[in-house]
Amino acid sequence: MGKKLRIGWFTFTCCEDSSIIFVEMMNQHYFEWKKLLDFRHCKMLKSKNVLDELDVAFVEGAISSDRDKLKLLEIRGKTKYLVAIGSCACTGGISAQRNTFPEHLKAKIEPVLRKWDLYRDVLRLDQVVTVDDRVDGCPMMEQKFLQVLDKYLVEFGVKKAGAGLPGEKSG
Ligand code: SF4
Repeated sequence: MGKKLRIGWFTFTCCEDSSIIFVEMMNQHYFEWKKLLDFRHCKMLKSKNVLDELDVAFVEGAISSDRDKLKLLEIRGKTKYLVAIGSCACTGGISAQRNTFPEHLKAKIEPVLRKWDLYRDVLRLDQVVTVDDRVDGCPMMEQKFLQVLDKYLVEFGVKKAGAGLPGEKSG
């Protein structure tokens, strides 16, 4: 069996639409990806997941609590590369809307934040860990995701450079 790229897909505070896009993309790419990707951690696809040594972690959503932060640090410690997926991960996006609330609204949501141990200000991923690549968009831009995936497939020797994007038919 050929070498596969060891990947994980993780979701933090967000609406999870990039996850939906990822699953939708499987309609077109699943059988190709099956040969190229080792889904080590992907709760959308599997009930049994391992968080061990990853080549690339794809991380969707923003960081809004110590729970999120600790988990993200753990992921960063186990992956060679970390890719921010979607605007919420890249810029805080919609998930960080409360950061810009006027004071009276901030006061109103304070009891909820206290109750659930949430940060007053939501963080983008690169405020917590080093981010190697970004796939922006709300939800993520499919073409950019394919480009980033292709880059790492080549870098880890899973496919040859110039062999086309994963799932792309040649000829
Ligand atoms: S970037 Fe957009 S689609 Fe993705 S989680 Fe945030 S709000 Fe949802």
